[in-house]
Amino acid sequence: RDRFVSPTKKQEDIDFNLRPNKLDTYIGQEEIKKNLKVFIQAALERGDSLDHVLLYGPPGLGKTTLANIIANEMGANIKTTSGPAIEKPGDLAAVLTKLQPNDILFIDEIHRLNRVIEETLYPAMEDFALDIVIGAGPQARSIRLDLPPFTLIGATTKAGSLTSPLRDRFGVINRLQFYTEGELTQIIMRAAKVLQVGIEKAGAKQIALRSRGTPRIANRFLKRVRDFAQIEGDGIITEEIAKNALDRLNVDKLGLDRVDRKMLKMIIEKFKGGPVGLGTLAAAINEERETIEDVYEPYLLQIGYLNRTPRGRKVTDLAYKHFNIEVGS
Ligand code: ADP
Repeated sequence: RDRFVSPTKKQEDIDFNLRPNKLDTYIGQEEIKKNLKVFIQAALERGDSLDHVLLYGPPGLGKTTLANIIANEMGANIKTTSGPAIEKPGDLAAVLTKLQPNDILFIDEIHRLNRVIEETLYPAMEDFALDIVIGAGPQARSIRLDLPPFTLIGATTKAGSLTSPLRDRFGVINRLQFYTEGELTQIIMRAAKVLQVGIEKAGAKQIALRSRGTPRIANRFLKRVRDFAQIEGDGIITEEIAKNALDRLNVDKLGLDRVDRKMLKMIIEKFKGGPVGLGTLAAAINEERETIEDVYEPYLLQIGYLNRTPRGRKVTDLAYKHFNIEVGS
């Protein structure tokens, strides 16, 4: 097996079936799906490979799932790797030279590719060519290898940290949105069926309400709530069971977990509501800046609990209310 191409690293993939494998069973992201259908059908009719696709948005919203669906709809093989796994240009060359015509290459966390490798990628994306330097010093020369036409699907949690020459080489750029409560309820009902656990719609809705707009979180909660239903109920996930289970998992009514709450409270209590710089905040709650930016912040911004200002992060009145703290106290 190729060292740089691993099937995938995510825990959820063990439950392989939880991943929908067709655009029609992929719930939500309607606009993206509609457009992708057109692009896929057009490419298939022409017998072309699909243009390169960039998917961005917070973790757990379905980028990997969508990449696999695109491959499936194209009838193409997919090879999966990630930015940090490709350390040297040779690593990338090894992946690229094994591609078959119209294969899909999925690079997760593509913003973490280093500059040299990124530059190797440009001619590969643009001309399906790979420039390899042979030898060193005055003897060094560059030869150009032809690659078969392929589709690169890049996924990133932040499009902003992609260099513009890389971003510009993607023909299709899609931003995934947080899911609505209704969409998450559907996702949970479907996942429950796959897991063969009984669930009432009201139970699914409870889980949906607290899943922060994120299918990965919804699926994780579903599995934990199932455990409570099995041991402390009669196996069916009811509204009551779901509520109790989530309370005991320390997930509050908005889906905020310990870290979210710690972060908001820290800003309120130690920094008078902010603004506080990202670095200072990260040190104060003992989390990495990146994790705060990619994992915690997007949802807090979305629900209007946090604002980004030029001078740092500020909590809003809504956040004060959530904790029953008087604004400005
Ligand atoms: P990302 O790559 O964006 O981090 P994933 O594609 O790994 O997210 O999705 C996380 C989990 O959520 C997957 O296991 C998948 O089962 C589920 N999921 C994501 N999007 C959807 C969707 N639109 N419909 C149903 N399930 C989804």
